[in-house]
Amino acid sequence: MRYKLGLLIVGSIGLDDIETPFDKIQNALGGSTTYISLAASYFTGPVEIVGIVGDDFPKANMDMLEKHNIDLEGLEIVKGAKTFRYGCRYHYDLNVRDSLFTDLNVFEKFNPILPEKSRKSNFIILGNIAPQLQTTVLDQLENPKFIVCDTMNFWIDRSKEDLIKVLKRVNVLIINDSEARLLSKEPNLIKAAKLISEMGPQYLIIKKGEHGALLFGDGTVFSAPAYPMENIFDPTGAGDAFAGGFTGYLHKNREISFESLKRAVVYGSVMASFCVEKFSTKGLEDLSFLEIHNRFIEFRELSSFS
Ligand code: AMP
Repeated sequence: MRYKLGLLIVGSIGLDDIETPFDKIQNALGGSTTYISLAASYFTGPVEIVGIVGDDFPKANMDMLEKHNIDLEGLEIVKGAKTFRYGCRYHYDLNVRDSLFTDLNVFEKFNPILPEKSRKSNFIILGNIAPQLQTTVLDQLENPKFIVCDTMNFWIDRSKEDLIKVLKRVNVLIINDSEARLLSKEPNLIKAAKLISEMGPQYLIIKKGEHGALLFGDGTVFSAPAYPMENIFDPTGAGDAFAGGFTGYLHKNREISFESLKRAVVYGSVMASFCVEKFSTKGLEDLSFLEIHNRFIEFRELSSFS
């Protein structure tokens, strides 16, 4: 299958307070759309985003996104309202985090209206937002060809029925191992993958933090290696960076097959590995495609044997 046209990303844009065993920062740029669009921008562009912020959202953040050829026409700025805010604390084991607060703020009344041109997009990433909003986006698309969906425990706990409706309409679901167990109510990941695939998505990716990722689909499975990272400073956004690298690569190459999805999973893992090396979005702000490609080759060598 070969496709072209735009790549549209809908999700959260926000300000995060992050605490790790090494450092803490406040009001850092965050949100699923932010990480996804930055990661995708190294593969394709302009990347269109649809989202909402309050007028407390710093202009410097918008300038940085625009420098990455991210089209902000679909970003609504609400006067006198507060931007989405999220706070979390990581344990010494950085795979474990406690969410400290989730202030939906502008998101509470968000009704994503796609600009005319974005309705024609045929590659769509539904970032981590309420499944009801993901459905609103799907309903406005004129000719969707490839839909990638992300979610998190917050929505599996609160809106599972709505999420299951979304899953019937998407090509790929990307979740992490604990979310897969929560969604399927099955502790074994292989059995969980079968149960989730039956809910609708053609392909399923289960990320296992620093231990790699599994791709299920076409009756088979691919296991992407983990990159041996020495410097993990902030895991926030790793999953989103994965989704951006994965879909950005597929959008650039316009080929959907299990083989190209395998390469896309590795590009997703590469972007996640850059993301966690610095706080907030910093690890995704100043990369070159050569660095990305070189790490892709390192990934390939990690798991090549005869
Ligand atoms: P990740 O580490 O990939 O799960 O993504 C973290 C980003 O998701 C943070 O920058 C948060 O701002 C954002 N986020 C956290 N919780 C939610 C939520 N319930 N809905 C939408 N975005 C969220």
